[in-house]
Amino acid sequence: MISQTPTSSASLPATPHESDRAARILVVDDEIINRMVLGQMLTQRGFEVFEAENGQAALQMLLSEPFDLVLMDLSMPGLNGIQISRLLRQAHTQMELPIIIVTSSDDRQQLLDAFRNGANDYITKPVDPDVVIARIRSQLRLKKAQDDLRESEERYALAAQGSNDGLWDWNIYLGTVFFSSRWKCMLGLNEAHAIDTVSDWFTLIHPEDQVRVQKDLTCHLRGESQHFETELRMAHQTNGYRWMLCRGLAVRDEKGKAVRIAGSLTDITEGKVADALTSLPNRLLFVDRVQRCIDQAQRNGDLKFAILYMDVDGFKLINDTYGHTAGDEFLIEMAKRLETAVRNCDSVVARLGGDEFAVLVENLTTEEDAVRVAQRIIDSMSAPFQVAERELFSRASIGISVNTPECESAEQLIREADVAMYFAKAHVHLTYKMFEREMIEATTVRMEMSNALRKAVTDGEMSVCYQPIVDICTGTTAGFEALCRWTSPRFGAVSPVEFIPLAEGNGQIIEIGRHVIDTACETIAALNTDRRQPLAMSVNISTRQIISPEFISTVKDCIEQRQLPPSCLKLEVTETTVMQDPETAVELLKALQDTGVAIGLDDFGTGYSSLACLHRLPLNVLKIDRSFVRDMFLSRENKAIIETIMKLAESLRLDVVAEGVENIEQLKHLESLGCRYVQGFYFSAPAAREELEELADREWQLF
Ligand code: C2E
Ligand code: MG
Ligand code: MG
Repeated sequence: MISQTPTSSASLPATPHESDRAARILVVDDEIINRMVLGQMLTQRGFEVFEAENGQAALQMLLSEPFDLVLMDLSMPGLNGIQISRLLRQAHTQMELPIIIVTSSDDRQQLLDAFRNGANDYITKPVDPDVVIARIRSQLRLKKAQDDLRESEERYALAAQGSNDGLWDWNIYLGTVFFSSRWKCMLGLNEAHAIDTVSDWFTLIHPEDQVRVQKDLTCHLRGESQHFETELRMAHQTNGYRWMLCRGLAVRDEKGKAVRIAGSLTDITEGKVADALTSLPNRLLFVDRVQRCIDQAQRNGDLKFAILYMDVDGFKLINDTYGHTAGDEFLIEMAKRLETAVRNCDSVVARLGGDEFAVLVENLTTEEDAVRVAQRIIDSMSAPFQVAERELFSRASIGISVNTPECESAEQLIREADVAMYFAKAHVHLTYKMFEREMIEATTVRMEMSNALRKAVTDGEMSVCYQPIVDICTGTTAGFEALCRWTSPRFGAVSPVEFIPLAEGNGQIIEIGRHVIDTACETIAALNTDRRQPLAMSVNISTRQIISPEFISTVKDCIEQRQLPPSCLKLEVTETTVMQDPETAVELLKALQDTGVAIGLDDFGTGYSSLACLHRLPLNVLKIDRSFVRDMFLSRENKAIIETIMKLAESLRLDVVAEGVENIEQLKHLESLGCRYVQGFYFSAPAAREELEELADREWQLF
């Protein structure tokens, strides 16, 4: 008989337990009252209950519908509980369909028979509802865990198949590891290859990665990490080392001790060594290649190879002005050009990150071979880049390092090329530079200087001096060029040739530039007070300043504050600035010119400006670079260049200022070519503010 104690029933929660929800239970009993009592008890707790009055009916139902658990009377007419269990077990395992026997008999033998025939558990009549529910729940939990595990195993196997991963499964007690055939195949091993222990596996791991992998693995086995996940290099039978991602999860016993760990192996070589944007090898692969060369050179002392480290001028400007998509387009094009430029030599081109590329050139006969490659790369940059529907110009600064017998690590050699690159970049006229040992110290100094520069304006270390620009026709001063000076308490007087590139690099140029414009405007406004013929003031401007959105208003503010006629201010931009992106330059310079200031093109002739471009630029002045003036008697070409510039300026109706005039011969020749304005030590070096009144009024003895 089934007894039901109302008190215990009332004490049970009426809401179904999480794992009870919708569980389908078949109650098999020949006595209707038993079925009803059990049925009611279970329904109350949210189970879905079905009834069968004998073994035959139960089998019928179990064949046609799915159930989660069977609650079965042991002694029934016809098929009894033991017989039904035996039949059911032919179709379902204990985990798939738990059977709980309900028995009033305390016949031990019968119970043992029931278990032998596949029963999972039993309860005795009279039934205690708490016990029934507890046992049912316990069986359902086990079943659910098993179902989940099976499902996740199936899912995992499917995922592994789909992703081409290899699988491994280590039975820690037995000390054996199962490696799937895919796992073996990924390492070039065939199916029959005998590999079934952890030490077999570890012999395939790169020596440098073994300790780390061991550590990660131990950490997870001890329960200190949630998953085992590590990147490692594994030896491929025929293909060197491959980068792999190895993941795993431990199965633990009730004490938490790991008894088994299984996981996957994914080949990540591609992602590890190729740059996703350009598909060029990345830093990792590049370092690896260079290291191989170093190792070879240690065996064969004659082997020579070089690293070309390259930085693309103006990339950051492209990114900032046109956005990252444009920046990406540019880098992809850059990568193509590099590959084309080095096509005919033993080389590896890599993208090391950002706008930094590197080339490894192998099998050099002399260092000159490396220089030739650098030159080819530089030449390949001369054509404009089609980016963001515009033509942009760029150029590369390249540092070169060649291996020496002392050279031990790839990183060192790459660093040397990098250092040399900074020297190339700092000197505008140099596009490549060979590494020299002295550069290392100089690099440290430069970094410290760059830092010191951040406080230079606020600490009053920046000053401005002025060089007169002389009008040859009248023999009077036409104006001045403002030139910035930095006197650092630590580094002394630093040349603008040195600190302006640093300030451009760290952004300080904006603040320094504003200080120079402001000071220069104040100076010229004061000098022009009561002057019949107002003098002009030229101020040098960097690219970073020109493209900064607040630049025009800075210029306007400075002019208005000093009540200066805008035409008294001449802004000098360099040819390099303009030529990087002529279209934008035209727009920016036009906007500046609209404020009434004049625009001068500085250092003309040193850049690579296409003369065709020149007529589109809104210019007022051309400044002939002092290198042409200096060398004008050295060669026929130099003379011819100055003559050409003069003719060009005339046709474009531009004033010409010749810089760096140091002697009378130069002056005479410039005059004979029709150059009206000159500037140089022949007249005066840049002078302090106090000297300007006198210089402004001076009548120059020209010849
Ligand atoms: P720059 O604008 O071409 O200035 C002319 C440079 O030539 C000045 O060098 C000047 O001192 C020098 N110089 C003048 N006459 C002679 C001569 O007869 N012989 C020789 N050998 N040199 C002469 P400085 O002052 O060292 O300036 C160098 C460069 O630094 C400038 O070239 C300009 O590009 C840059 N710079 C100077 N001040 C500023 C500034 O405030 N802002 C920016 N962005 N650049 C500046
Ligand atoms: Mg200048
Ligand atoms: Mg100049």
